[in-house]
Amino acid sequence: MRLVCSICEEKYNIEEDIINCPRCKAPLIFEYDLDEYSKNFIDHEVKSIWRYNILPKEKDLISLGEGNTYLHKSKSLSEELGYEGELFLKDESTNPTGSFVDRGIAVAVSHAANKNYHTVATVSPGNIGASLAAYASKAGLNSLIYTPLNIESGKLYQILMYNGQVYPVQDIERGIEEALDRADKDTYLILPNNPYYLEGVKTIAYEISEDLNWDSPDMVIVPMGNGGLIFSVWKGFLELKKLGFIDRLPKMVGVQFRGASPIVDRLTGEVSEAMSIAAPELSIPNPLNMNLALTAIKDSGGYGIRVEYQDAVNALRLLSEKEGLFVELAAASTIPAVKHILDHTMPKKIVCILTGHGLKDPATIRELTRSIRERLGLDSGERRVIGRTKIGILRAIKDGNSYGYAIWKYLGRKGITIKLPTVYQHLSELERMGLIKTISKSGLKRQTTIYGLTTRGRDALRYLG
Ligand SMILES: [Zn+2]
Repeated sequence: MRLVCSICEEKYNIEEDIINCPRCKAPLIFEYDLDEYSKNFIDHEVKSIWRYNILPKEKDLISLGEGNTYLHKSKSLSEELGYEGELFLKDESTNPTGSFVDRGIAVAVSHAANKNYHTVATVSPGNIGASLAAYASKAGLNSLIYTPLNIESGKLYQILMYNGQVYPVQDIERGIEEALDRADKDTYLILPNNPYYLEGVKTIAYEISEDLNWDSPDMVIVPMGNGGLIFSVWKGFLELKKLGFIDRLPKMVGVQFRGASPIVDRLTGEVSEAMSIAAPELSIPNPLNMNLALTAIKDSGGYGIRVEYQDAVNALRLLSEKEGLFVELAAASTIPAVKHILDHTMPKKIVCILTGHGLKDPATIRELTRSIRERLGLDSGERRVIGRTKIGILRAIKDGNSYGYAIWKYLGRKGITIKLPTVYQHLSELERMGLIKTISKSGLKRQTTIYGLTTRGRDALRYLG
């Protein structure tokens, strides 16, 4: 096992503990004497990436159960796309922190822990940051996460919960400069071109082939940010072929959003206009693994495809509704790419890599569910005014207290002490919001209004608890 420079091909001993080629600063890639592994490739007892032996394994492995993700065979979505071949969806959202990057971070953090670093650091718009913070906690290391201000909030909350130390930076470039400046001898900096990280990610290819009974799909469709994922998956397939486990290789298809497509631009020679898109993970102006990604696409005879942001948003909904897979926008970008491919060719077997979980990006989900929330009276504006008192009133009505005085007594018993006229104020607001309705007015001396819940009110109560 050795490290080889991806440009000058100089070989380095792994004991040197370097992460880039000292001569050309290019990423280093692990190389193995594969003959030694052909009989000893899988440890069937292990249910994580560590079941595969062609990995830089340290004495103590740091694992949260990464890998071993499900390869779904699509039916409804496939029909929706008019595809007659087999469409497989590799669901990486079930990794420990909800993203494929856990595979790479598990390997890189295992290395850092065994080399006795005290701290691990990264510069990340989210997924790698969240993953690094989690694995650092497991390993008992500190984690420093340099992250741009537009980080998706789900990922930020993950980092904070895993006790990662957050350094907000203007953008990724400046984050890298700052991280390099501040790094000391006790800190191991893990960027997306780290050789240990890339090595862990390749296990996706191993799992796909194993699940296809040691076959290879015709095409693998991969979202590209820094370009490490597409390269690593390609490397995995190449190794399987050299080992004799598979006898053909897939075409690698890399996907980027129009307006944030530096790798596809380089490939096609046409530069698309830069746009700001709401997907920080995929808006990387200078991908660290640009050359590796280009190698994977060119050597495999694959393609680079630009997709429209709105098409990915639509695909996000389709994946949830048709397949029960709620993924991040980057993952959904693979589906419009399938459409694009089917316009030109009809491969028999396609695998899309669904990189991460949809819950990581609440802003996009909020937008997609707006009309449903409005119908239920759960829009953020209304949510603010449906406070404790109004929820109490809805519950009172549900429990059979149908007029103002009874509702007021009910609230008092529940510890909500307000004046009776305030109850009437809330009742008229709830009626205006469409959550309750007037059923009848009765009484001799004075009018008593009887209230009931509307369907929307009952739904709202169910959501609000
Ligand atoms: Zn070099």
